[in-house]
Amino acid sequence: MNDYKVSALKYRPQRFDEVISQDFATQTLKNAIISKKIAHSYLISGPRGIGKTTIARVFAKALNCKNQKDGEPCNECESCIEITNGIHPDVFELDAASNRGIDDVRAIQDAAKYYPVKASYKFFIVDEVHMLTIQAFNALLKILEEPPQYLIFILATTNPEKIPPTISSRCQKFNLQRIKIEDISKRISEIAKKENITIDEQSLFLISKLGDGALRDALGIFDLAVSFCGQNIVYDELKQFFNLPEKEVYFKISDFIYKGDSKGVLEYFSNLFDQGFDLHTFYSGITEHFRNLLIIKSTKDCSLIDESDVIKNKYIQESDKFSESQLLRILQILFDDEQRFKFSANQRILSETILVELCRINKEVIDLERLISELEEFKKKTSEHDITNIKSGNSYQSLTTKTKEKKTSEIINNEKETETYQVSEEIHSENITKTSLAIDEKNTDEIVEKDEIINSNENTVTSDYRKFDSSLINKLRTLFDLEEERINNVRRHK
Ligand SMILES: [Zn+2]
Repeated sequence: MNDYKVSALKYRPQRFDEVISQDFATQTLKNAIISKKIAHSYLISGPRGIGKTTIARVFAKALNCKNQKDGEPCNECESCIEITNGIHPDVFELDAASNRGIDDVRAIQDAAKYYPVKASYKFFIVDEVHMLTIQAFNALLKILEEPPQYLIFILATTNPEKIPPTISSRCQKFNLQRIKIEDISKRISEIAKKENITIDEQSLFLISKLGDGALRDALGIFDLAVSFCGQNIVYDELKQFFNLPEKEVYFKISDFIYKGDSKGVLEYFSNLFDQGFDLHTFYSGITEHFRNLLIIKSTKDCSLIDESDVIKNKYIQESDKFSESQLLRILQILFDDEQRFKFSANQRILSETILVELCRINKEVIDLERLISELEEFKKKTSEHDITNIKSGNSYQSLTTKTKEKKTSEIINNEKETETYQVSEEIHSENITKTSLAIDEKNTDEIVEKDEIINSNENTVTSDYRKFDSSLINKLRTLFDLEEERINNVRRHK
């Protein structure tokens, strides 16, 4: 006889303290057992594979166990063993996904009429209870309204919102959480040790992650990995087995986008495609990659991303290449095109278009951001520079250009240079003539004289200069916003 058991069954928790990540539910149920305050119906909800029916069974075991200690079952007495093996005459399990009709619930109604055979409580564990028909729910409601003392219902569901309020309001509710990757990884590592299997950190992480919050699924993947790799699970082999893309692929793609290298990204992508790379995996992979970069960039906290430490460090380095607005823009495009991608008849071409667009848009954002910051820098420098130069008397040209901006009543034409100088009206005409001469003949004596005029006007001029630059920067910002709006509009109407 084949005695192979899948890990999820072999290592199914038999005590509350073996159930991982669901402390609230397990502790509350243990306390209920210790204080003997038992409700007649419980509703346990949460995603699949996280321990709903496991908790229900441990609860049934602990309540019926003769050697129960601190709310935990002994797992050694006859009752415990029978429940573990699914043969206890007072514990019924019903899968509402396949037994959803009124007849099935009538069978429960009939069974509920009789006292338990062996134990003090009779249990009905109904899995996927939301699948019951309305008539079946009504029949169930009749029992729940006036349950006999010995009867306990444990209803489990992945869709608690589909359960009629008349039912759920009569239950004590527990909403179980998805299991964290590190908790799954810890559990798999313990199991691997017990099975004498060596597994490297990256494989452990990959398997836990593929479980998507469900320990049962992760253990199923672990079993697959063992059957493929044997007693020694190595990441390189595992990756091949699942035909998974290397994280490296996404780092490479984001580097092309960072450099704005459309040609490079297309060549690289074409190579991936030829290697049989799955495009759906690619799309969700690249979206997750930029999401991780944005999280690191905006929070500086890598505990929020589900990756191994090696990869987390890579993310920290990579995030230096992008600004927050660049990452937001890239993610916006990826999200906007997600539906289009899903239903596209030619996903390859669409992917290529998106990649080129990412390269281009990213470059535009850099250019504009750089331009604005350079202008701000320029403004800061020139205003400092201006004041220093004015003070040391070297700023003729810039000052005469500046004074041009001012509205004046006197205009003097310099015939030699055919250039018009506009100066403020409070400057005496004699001085102005000298100023013009000073420009033409670079006469040092007269430059000294002009310094006096400039000094009297210094404050007006520099403040004008600042105003001029601020308005230029504001105009650029407006242009930047308009451009953004335009691109968004184009994308919306695509
Ligand atoms: Zn026991």
